[in-house]
Amino acid sequence: MQAFSNAGGGDIVLAIAQRIVENRAYLSDIDGLIGDGDHGVNMAKGFSLAAERLRGDPQSLAGSLATLGDVLMTEIGGSMGPLYGMMFSGFAEALDGVEEIDAAAFERMLRHGLDEVQSIGDAKVGDKTLIDAFAPALQAFCATAAKRDDFAAALDALIVAAEKGRDSTVDLVAKIGRAARLGERSRGVLDPGATSCAIILRSLAEGAKTKLDASNPHKS
Ligand code: ADP
Ligand code: MG
Repeated sequence: MQAFSNAGGGDIVLAIAQRIVENRAYLSDIDGLIGDGDHGVNMAKGFSLAAERLRGDPQSLAGSLATLGDVLMTEIGGSMGPLYGMMFSGFAEALDGVEEIDAAAFERMLRHGLDEVQSIGDAKVGDKTLIDAFAPALQAFCATAAKRDDFAAALDALIVAAEKGRDSTVDLVAKIGRAARLGERSRGVLDPGATSCAIILRSLAEGAKTKLDASNPHKS
């Protein structure tokens, strides 16, 4: 069985935070085109604050995701605090009490996170939000896991679909959030939330793949 331990997975969250901090200026630049230019600043602030806490008090993957969710929810403004707060708290909730994370547990985690974001944000695929990266990524993960029974291959499919979904936002008109006020003028650029979501999902999937390699060294 391809799986990795929840207890040893906490540093995946630190890696995600690092990627977000590295992309601070890029994400704010994109947001400047159809929003108020604060996306990278907000995100980097929340993720680095959570990383600081986790470095002082290392936790399991579920525990680290819960800390990140709490920090985003309580300390970060804009749309993204509550939305990503719900996403990461949802991930954490689904992994709570799970010892070994296999493809089925990972899928439950993703699904619960997506449900939680949609429960407060109400966005659908096509509205030019982070859902345009997240929903197809989950779908690709599930389809590949079901067809090939291969966790690592499903993680690769997740990354590809998240980035394809992110790119699909260029041609979309924003239907929800701040950019929706621009109407047709929101077409032609990437959605910042879909861009940060693709970064998060790639980093999460790469982290999981590294853990799988370490846990199952006999498998390639
Ligand atoms: P704000 O819009 O408050 O300045 P950010 O700039 O941090 O917040 O985030 C903007 C991103 O939030 C958008 O690019 C979009 O992906 C995402 N977003 C906005 N509203 C929603 C929603 N209801 N559901 C999902 N994502 C949303
Ligand atoms: Mg903004």
